[in-house]
Amino acid sequence: MEPRTVTLHDCQFSTYICEEEIIAHISLLARQLDKDYANKNPLFLAVLNGSFMFAADLMKRVSTPCEISFIRLSSYKDMQSTGTVKEVLGLTEDIGGRHVVVLEDIVDTGHTVHGLLQQLQARQPASVEVATLLLKPECLQHQLEVKYVARTIPNDFVVGYGLDYNGLGRNLRDIYKIVS
Ligand code: 5GP
Repeated sequence: MEPRTVTLHDCQFSTYICEEEIIAHISLLARQLDKDYANKNPLFLAVLNGSFMFAADLMKRVSTPCEISFIRLSSYKDMQSTGTVKEVLGLTEDIGGRHVVVLEDIVDTGHTVHGLLQQLQARQPASVEVATLLLKPECLQHQLEVKYVARTIPNDFVVGYGLDYNGLGRNLRDIYKIVS
């Protein structure tokens, strides 16, 4: 297929992972989750905004009984000894004793997920795992076990399928990578 380009603000992006490929990876992930969470009534926690499309397409393919809720991370940053930690907002469920699966759009350095896992673990869930649409393994700076990864990518800046560049691009059906 001919590559397509899109201009968002001052940057040009070119098609990188098409919607069909994304959905194929998500379907595999859903099958794995069905197997691992059968009879566990998992609670999926989708991290807004970036994971909204991933969460919707994944949930449509998970068939084991489950629940989903949405959380945000504060945009203000609170410096702690471990680095920059964003506070979890909107978590109204009691996750004590629950099997929690965090749904993320992308794991880059891992700072965000690392901070989030610490906050969730403090609430004593039965288990917490992370399912991410994209992972940049070259960029990881934490000893994180990201158990469920739809697709790994090199260290490129990507947009589309929920991911934005300064607010734009979340609506694109495919994933694009930066050209210039
Ligand atoms: P981390 O804390 O793992 O370094 O970064 C995670 C967050 O950075 C993601 O949730 C996302 O908001 C942003 N991010 C990291 N890499 C990219 C990228 O390639 N494209 C976009 N749009 N956001 C990214």
